[in-house]
Amino acid sequence: MEFWDKKIECMSREEIQQVQLEKLQATLHRVYKNVRHYRKIFRDVDFMPEDLRSFSDFNSLPFITRRELSENYPYDMFAVPLREVVRLHTASVNFEDPIVIGFTQNDINVWAELMARNFTGVGINKDDVVQIALNFGITTGPFGVQMGAEKIGASVIPMSAGKFSDQIKIMRDFRTTVLVSTPTLALSLVREMEEMNLDPQSLMLKSGVFGSEPWSEETRRILEFKMHITATDTYAMTELFGPGVAWECPEKNGLHIAEDHFIPEIVDPVTLAPLPEGSEGELVLTSISKEAFPLIRFRTGDISRIDYTPCACGRTHCRISRIFRRCDDVMVVRGMAITPEQVGQALARVSGGMPVFQIQVERSGGLDQMTVLMEISDLNFFDEMKKQRRFAETLHRALSELLGWEVTVRLVEPGTFNPEEKVRDLRCFK
Ligand SMILES: [Zn+2]
Repeated sequence: MEFWDKKIECMSREEIQQVQLEKLQATLHRVYKNVRHYRKIFRDVDFMPEDLRSFSDFNSLPFITRRELSENYPYDMFAVPLREVVRLHTASVNFEDPIVIGFTQNDINVWAELMARNFTGVGINKDDVVQIALNFGITTGPFGVQMGAEKIGASVIPMSAGKFSDQIKIMRDFRTTVLVSTPTLALSLVREMEEMNLDPQSLMLKSGVFGSEPWSEETRRILEFKMHITATDTYAMTELFGPGVAWECPEKNGLHIAEDHFIPEIVDPVTLAPLPEGSEGELVLTSISKEAFPLIRFRTGDISRIDYTPCACGRTHCRISRIFRRCDDVMVVRGMAITPEQVGQALARVSGGMPVFQIQVERSGGLDQMTVLMEISDLNFFDEMKKQRRFAETLHRALSELLGWEVTVRLVEPGTFNPEEKVRDLRCFK
């Protein structure tokens, strides 16, 4: 078993808690001094940073949500002046409710360090050729992957998520050994290889690091069997860093969280009460190293559980269970976080009023498909079928443009679906 930093990754529980407490105290002082929003919400609950003497005081701190981050757009959540920020990303390619995430040079270094731990932990090293088939753009996704792979000395191919045939050509010609992508893209590559009659064993691939969307054990089995690789999960949370927050070791039995940089908690998503160890609930994360954009008790919306029992790999940092569902209305479709509100706003722009709609998501052949059902009403009733079809086509174009891929839109009679149920997710992840 290889470690990037064995001393840190195998610290005793007492050492971890000591590091966490010291870093947390420093972070609380910094955000109280520099971020008006934190100062306000701390004062609202009568909390001063010096009140935190042990972890039991941590529970009196308020939580923070994506909405608050968005309300403080663009820079009001930054804990350092902009001149100290060397990188700016957003949490989504969708700009309806934007969040800007800033990184100091030290934040960037920590991020690379986290990904270096991830790669080393799954047996990737300087002899490897890492093909990054994630879109390089304003979201964080591939950048941490690139820096981590370079830090361990691997050769990086910043391929981005392009044409499948090009991906396979590069994979073959450049002798790629590691694929980093969404599982959806990896499954598409498997299909493309089958169509090309290309035997994956003729490639040099040995490992796949997949993330950005929920994926099942069945998908892992297919990818490992068909690509002749070891497939591991990596947990990305853009508001914190992107990929690198937690990752699977070769035991594939939960994802280790870097506890020297984050404090994880599991809370009841309704009452927000902390839940006993091992319970399933909403994952809440506090970043204790980030300088530019620290988050205190950030509600991720992801449902998970924490396991503090020792892992056979030797690492002592706790593990979160794989994420298959969320407790809010955010859907992750084809690796993209989408809310029904965003879809509704796009439909309303075309219709001239808020329609009654339902989003249905299915997974077919490993690829997410989205259908939007919209009730026929005064907003969209046309005597002529031709006009109705044209209207549906306009909706289809608006949604496909919003999301970047083809969305099916169907106009249906009232009563076809339950209007209270905005999303029907028919995908099965377990
Ligand atoms: Zn482990």
